[in-house]
Amino acid sequence: MVAFAGGISIPGWSRVYAGKVRDMYVPIDNQWHDGNDTMLVVASDRLSVQDRVVPSTIPGKGELLTQLTLHWFDELNGIVPNHLASVSVPEEVAGRAMIVRRLRMYPVECSVAGYMTDVMLADYRATGKVCGVELPAGLREGDQLPSPIFLPARKGSVESNDIDITFDEFAYIVGLDVARSIRSIAIRIYNEGHRKCAQAGIILAQCKVEFGSSADPGDVEIVLADEVLTPDSATMWLAQDYEPGKAQVAMGKQFIRHWLTRCGWDRDSGTPPPPLPPHLVATVKKRYETVFAMLAG
Ligand code: ATP
Ligand code: MG
Repeated sequence: MVAFAGGISIPGWSRVYAGKVRDMYVPIDNQWHDGNDTMLVVASDRLSVQDRVVPSTIPGKGELLTQLTLHWFDELNGIVPNHLASVSVPEEVAGRAMIVRRLRMYPVECSVAGYMTDVMLADYRATGKVCGVELPAGLREGDQLPSPIFLPARKGSVESNDIDITFDEFAYIVGLDVARSIRSIAIRIYNEGHRKCAQAGIILAQCKVEFGSSADPGDVEIVLADEVLTPDSATMWLAQDYEPGKAQVAMGKQFIRHWLTRCGWDRDSGTPPPPLPPHLVATVKKRYETVFAMLAG
């Protein structure tokens, strides 16, 4: 399959934003907000690691993320409304795009973790907490937590880092009522995802979701946006290989982070990450395809 880095021109649509992975387009003939604005979200094959775009693409990844997100939107419908408006997209981006409601996004990434992941371990060992959330002593890498914890992060811009924040800081940004609602919805998404993944032989260790609300002032309905429960936005382990107390093999891009560290790349150095050797591209692709086949195939 040919890799798709995105940013192509699509008749009738104009590109207004390039995220690390997704490109956003608005209809050319709809200049003014009419209360019902739509956007075209196109998922490219780009790969972001530690908030930086790697100069290699993973062929087929954008289509896989789009299809898996559509699958989950359907499964999660009873918990939260989502931004999907239509899957009738221009043929240039068939399969990898959706038409969505254009939302006012809350500038936060909402993670929920149900297990001790490698990313949380350093903070936990140093402080007994993760992002300010107290956890029992003696947890090992891979252990299930007594209950899922909510871990918000303030979203950085395309070339800057997301910053972990406490719940109080989160509430300061979005307001206490909205913060409580978002936390509760995010945890319900995690719990439902965890249950459904378990039925498919996958342990959902952690997931990240983003929300927005209508651009109309006063409308505070919380809407699930972006992508959900994909290997790009979640930490997934195969149940058959799960062994708490040691490093777990994540089915997403996490191992690329370790490879980049071993290469000596430092994300704060200002230098872009190196391109991935072909065997790593093939491994990422295989892991994403395995997850897709298990969850939605
Ligand atoms: P990453 O997800 O890797 O951190 P990113 O934040 O740059 O990268 P992308 O997924 O590449 O995100 O780009 C999508 C962008 O569009 C994000 O900023 C996301 O918040 C925003 N977005 C998603 N859905 C909507 C929507 N319905 N309305 C408005 N903005 C949206
Ligand atoms: Mg994103």
